[in-house]
Amino acid sequence: MTTESQSPAPAQPEAVAHDVSGMTPGPQAVRMVIGGEQVDAQDGQTFEVVNPATGVVMATAPLGGKADVDRAVEAARQAFEDPKGFSSWSAAKRGRTLQKLSMLVKQRQEELARLESENVGKPITSARSEAFAVSLVFEYYAGAANKHFGETIPVSRPGLDFTLREPIGVVGLIVPWNFPMNMASWKLGPALAAGNTCILKPASYSPLTAIRLGELALEAGFPPGVVNVVTGPGGTAGAALAAHPGVGKVAFTGETTTGQEIMRLAANNVKKVSLELGGKSPNIIFADADLERFAKESVYSVFDNAGQDCCARSRILVERSVHEKVVGLFVEATRSVIVGDPADDATEVGSLVSQRQRERVLDYVEVGQREGAELVLGGRAPDDQALAAGAYVLPTIFDNCRADMRIAREEVFGPVVAVIPFESEEEAVRLANATPYGLSGSIWSRDIARAIRVAKGVQSGVLSINTNASVHTEAPFGGYKMSGSGRELGMHALGLYTELKNVFVDLG
Ligand code: NAD
Repeated sequence: MTTESQSPAPAQPEAVAHDVSGMTPGPQAVRMVIGGEQVDAQDGQTFEVVNPATGVVMATAPLGGKADVDRAVEAARQAFEDPKGFSSWSAAKRGRTLQKLSMLVKQRQEELARLESENVGKPITSARSEAFAVSLVFEYYAGAANKHFGETIPVSRPGLDFTLREPIGVVGLIVPWNFPMNMASWKLGPALAAGNTCILKPASYSPLTAIRLGELALEAGFPPGVVNVVTGPGGTAGAALAAHPGVGKVAFTGETTTGQEIMRLAANNVKKVSLELGGKSPNIIFADADLERFAKESVYSVFDNAGQDCCARSRILVERSVHEKVVGLFVEATRSVIVGDPADDATEVGSLVSQRQRERVLDYVEVGQREGAELVLGGRAPDDQALAAGAYVLPTIFDNCRADMRIAREEVFGPVVAVIPFESEEEAVRLANATPYGLSGSIWSRDIARAIRVAKGVQSGVLSINTNASVHTEAPFGGYKMSGSGRELGMHALGLYTELKNVFVDLG
């Protein structure tokens, strides 16, 4: 049994079906992008998109299903197979078009940021940075498109051996709601640079920026059918995409249990699969580290995005001799975090994505208390009546946790951190590895040799020393163990979206 199966019920999209046939959709009715057209679901059903900070319905989106996925796969197939279309483009032309997309995203930064902030409750300042990061990812892959190529190999037989990097064809890109447009760009960028045609499936909580990206891709000049966006529930639209025999690869970001299901569905036609899954990342601090800097920086590494971050440093492993001091500094730094209206420039922590996610997080707070962890801060909604309708949880700190407690092993996906003291370097590494995950983590020490020893011992795809910065557009990102397979970002990601063909020419 996996750890997730013991968690409170995972948050599911609040997809409420509406039959809008014969009704005039509200002013915020958005539509999918299939074959270059803005379309409704074939059966006309829609679902509500809620602003979680206010509880107000901000839009309706098509409740896409299998028939819509079939339509999108057919559009993507035609776009891929058109001999005069996208497949005939040079890599440089794909790059130039990605550069145009990057510029369009930069121009629309404020619009995208507002849409994202209202849709998922994240602070507007974070959403602005994220929109900018999307433009940088497209810019990176614009430059990368003609720099990923084959090699010549000195084989034993007389002749010439060389490899070709070829696009896979139609690829399915399934993304979560915590960083909706960023996760989409991490997949669209390399997939398009490598010459694939795409079907993007956003989470039901957060379809709005994905749809805008689909529209902007058309405006940038990608031909109809190259970028399609299908909205709808994971269990139907997502599953249909993961199982579709016309899709050659599925790239997924989301919960580990969903990733396991995607692998099963993809086995259908032996699709290529890359997975970015959950995390329970350790923040390891030794007594000789800069404790003040650790406290100041680490507050954001766990509470940013209200803790709904696969890289959240949700475990603090602290050397026992500085345990009390570090907790004191961390509590003090956390008290100054501004929780509030996501639209306010001063806000640092906004709403969770939904009331359901809030309940899940508060369930974990109860679990932590029952297990005997010491709740030293937060663990409840803010008192501010102006925030009462939103899905808020205050930054929450549990001290004196044990590694076997659920709050120390399972991904809470909310603003909750578990502090665990350790005695030695060996124990720190053992504790760091004591979860099924291995995505990210930090090590704080002035002794660089020790920090590197620990980094080598921690089973994790991404680590940082004396900082929490662990995501870089140019560097590989992904997980060990149950945190996933494959590496996104950097030049590594292009390998996820290409087939490698070997050709041998007999020169005899
Ligand atoms: P989720 O697994 O519930 O959903 C992710 C996506 O999968 C959504 O689009 C959803 O509709 C779809 N989906 C759900 N069931 C499906 C099915 N049976 N078949 C096909 N598609 C299906 O995850 P979430 O709640 O949206 O996101 C939070 C999770 O994502 C956390 O576990 C977090 O750690 C993880 N995450 C990981 C990374 C990373 O890079 N490793 C980044 C961000 C988020």
